[in-house]
Amino acid sequence: MEKIALSEIYGINVFNDAVMTERLPKKVYAELKKTIKNGESLTAYVAEVVANAMKDWAIERGATHYTHWFQPMTGITAEKHEAFLTPVGDGKAIAEFSGKELIRGESDASSFPSGGLRATFEARGYTAWDCTSPAFLKEDASGLTLCIPTAFCSYTGEALDKKTPLLRSMEAINTQAIRVLRLFGDKQTQRIITSVGPEQEYFLIDKQMYKKRKDLIFTGRTLFGALPPKGQELDDHYYGTIRENVSCYMHELNRELWKLGISAKTQHNEVAPCQHELAPIYTDTNTATDHNQLIMEAMKRIASHFDLVCLLHEKPFSGVNGSGKHNNWSISTDGGQNLLEPGKNPHRNLKFLLFLVAVIKAVDVHADLLRISAANPGNDHRLGANEAPPAIISIFLGDQLEDILEQIECGELNNSIQGGEMSIGVSTMPSLKKDATDRNRTSPFAFTGNKFEFRMLGSSDSIACPNYILNTVVADVLEEFADKLEGADDFEKEAMELIRETVKQHKRIVFNGNGYSDEWVEEAERRGLPNINCMVDAIPAIKSEKAVKLFEKHHVLTKAECNSRADILYEEYTKQINIEARTMIEMVLKQIRPAVISYTKELADTVIALKEAGVDATASTKLLKEITSQLNAMDEALETLRTVLDEVSKIEVITQQAHEFRYKVFPAMEALRVPADKLEMLVDEKKWPIPTYGDLLFYV
Ligand code: ADP
Ligand code: MG
Repeated sequence: MEKIALSEIYGINVFNDAVMTERLPKKVYAELKKTIKNGESLTAYVAEVVANAMKDWAIERGATHYTHWFQPMTGITAEKHEAFLTPVGDGKAIAEFSGKELIRGESDASSFPSGGLRATFEARGYTAWDCTSPAFLKEDASGLTLCIPTAFCSYTGEALDKKTPLLRSMEAINTQAIRVLRLFGDKQTQRIITSVGPEQEYFLIDKQMYKKRKDLIFTGRTLFGALPPKGQELDDHYYGTIRENVSCYMHELNRELWKLGISAKTQHNEVAPCQHELAPIYTDTNTATDHNQLIMEAMKRIASHFDLVCLLHEKPFSGVNGSGKHNNWSISTDGGQNLLEPGKNPHRNLKFLLFLVAVIKAVDVHADLLRISAANPGNDHRLGANEAPPAIISIFLGDQLEDILEQIECGELNNSIQGGEMSIGVSTMPSLKKDATDRNRTSPFAFTGNKFEFRMLGSSDSIACPNYILNTVVADVLEEFADKLEGADDFEKEAMELIRETVKQHKRIVFNGNGYSDEWVEEAERRGLPNINCMVDAIPAIKSEKAVKLFEKHHVLTKAECNSRADILYEEYTKQINIEARTMIEMVLKQIRPAVISYTKELADTVIALKEAGVDATASTKLLKEITSQLNAMDEALETLRTVLDEVSKIEVITQQAHEFRYKVFPAMEALRVPADKLEMLVDEKKWPIPTYGDLLFYV
C-alpha cells in the first residue's frame, strides 16, 4: 500500500483558505471572508474574480468540468456537470467560468421531490452558491470535477433542499445567542457557530455475496434471513482487530477524505460483525453536513475497490445491531469559546447554566420535531422497535449536572461534584483523573462533557434536518430568554430565577437511567413524554401548528415548505415499503419457492425410494411434512401480502396510504418472512438460492 504523508495531502482538493490567500487579490479575499464570516452579501465583482481563480486552480489540478453540488430532498446529493468550455470559432474552444456561473445555476428540477411546492410544468430550479462551505474537487477513476456547494430553490424562492433551512437556522440561532451573550457583557463576539461531529456507522460485506441478494440490491437491507448460530453475543467484534482488507479500505477512505479536507480521525469495529464506524473531527454544522455526504459517498465508492459493498442502511440485518449516526453538537463563539463548556465549577457558571437549560427546554418542548428529524423507513427498525436508542426522547446529563439542577431547584447552589482520582489497584500503574460523570450509552440525547450527542439519527440520512431543527428549537428558547432578561434590573438574579423556573418546568425530560428498560417506557408515559414508534406517526409533527409557527418565526421554513416536507416524507415511506414488498414477492416467487418445491420433490422421491427399499422412512417423511407445511404457510402469507399491497396501492390520499403501508403492508411483510426463514433452516444449504446471514456476515 502506498505510503502517505498526511500533511502533504490534507486538503489538496479543497479551494480552502490557503488557496484563496494565495490566488485572490487581497481586497477580494477580504470581501469574500466578510461574506463567509459575517453573512454580508456578495458583489458581482468579487464573484467574478473568485470564479476565475477557482477555475484556474481546478484546471491546473486536471479538472475539465464543474458542477453545482446540491442536496435535494432525496437526502443524497445531486450534480449536473458542465465543461469549462466556450467555443470561440475556428473549431477552437477556451476554458471559461464566469462569476454568474459560480453564483447561480438553473436546471430542470421537475424530477426532484418537491412535495407539491412546484408543479411539474413550472420546472425551473435554481442553485445558489453557498460560499460558507468550500468548493472542492471530487476525484474518481474518471478524473476530477470542481464541485461548488449550493442551495437549491424553486422559481418562487422556496427551499427544495436540505441545505437552505440549515443555513437559515444557523442565522436564527446566531441572532438569538448573540442577544443572550450581550446580556453577559460580551461585546466582542460577532457570530456564534453551531458545530457538529457526526460519527458514522456502516457495514462492509463481500460484493459477490451482495450481488446474489436482490433485497440488498433493491432495498439496502435483507428482507429474509435466519439468524446464524453465532451473532454478536460474544462482543468479539466491538473494537476488535480490524481485518486486513477492511484496514486497507479504511486507509484508502481516509486518504480520499483527507484530500477533501475532511478530518477523518477515529475508526473502529462496531458491535455487529462486519460493522464499523468512522468519526471526523467536528466542524461548523454546514460544512459538517456537506462532509458527511461526501463521507457516505466515498464509503460506497471505495468499497468496490476491495470487492466489498458498503451498506449504509439503518438495519441491513435483522437480529444484529443496526447502524446510526451520533450527532455531537455544540455552540461556540467566533472567538472559540464553547458555550456548553461547564468548566471546573459549573454551579458558578451562569452563562453555561443558561445555555444548558435553554437546550433542555428546547428538547422538551419540541421532542416531537427531533423525533421526526431522525425518522426514515430504515430507522423504524431501530427507534422504538427491538433496538436502541429508544423512540422516547430524553436527556442524559450525568451525576454532576443532575446534582446541580437539584441544587438549583432547592434554591441553593453550593458546589459541583468533582471527578477525582481513580485507582486501578496496581501500584505500578499511574493514578488516573476521572471524569465527573460516567458515560451513558442508552440515552438518545446525552450531555458528553461539553457537547450534546443526539444519537437517534439513521446511518443513511443527511444530518441537515436534525441540525436545522436543533438549531431552531434552541434559537427559539434563547429568544424567549433574551426577551425576558433584556429589561432586567438585576440581571444575575433574574437569570438565576429563569434558570430555576426552566428546570422546574422541564426536568421531566432529564433521565439518567437505562433508556432500554421497560420501566423507562412506563415512567416516560407517566411523565407525559411522547413515545412515537414509527416514521408515519412522527411526520405530523413537522406540519403542526406549533411547528409552523416556530419555523416561520425564525424564517427557517414557511408553512408551504413545512407541508411539502411532510408530503415528501409520506411519499418516501410509501415508496420504500412498496419496493420492499415487491422485492419480497419477487424473491419468494422466483427464488425461494422454486428452490423449496424442487427440494420437496427430491425428498418425496427419497421417501418413496426408502419405502420401496423396505426401510423406515420416518425422518424423511417428517421433514417433508414440515417443509410442505411451511411452504403452504409461506404461500398463504404471500397471497395476503399481494392482496394487501394491491388494495393499498389504490389509495389516493398520501397520508392515508402511508399509514396503511405501515399498518397493513409492513406486518404482512413480516408475516411472510417468518415461514421463509423457517424454511431456510430446513432446506439443504446447497439448495438454498441466496447467501445466508452466515455467508454474508462471517465469510468475508
Ligand atoms: P464516542 O465516544 O461517542 O464514540 P467519538 O470520540 O467517536 O465519540 O466521537 C466524538 C465526536 O464528537 C467527534 O466527531 C468529535 O470531533 C466530536 N466533538 C468533540 N467535541 C465537540 C464539540 N465541542 N462540538 C461538536 N462535536 C464535538
Ligand atoms: Mg457516540
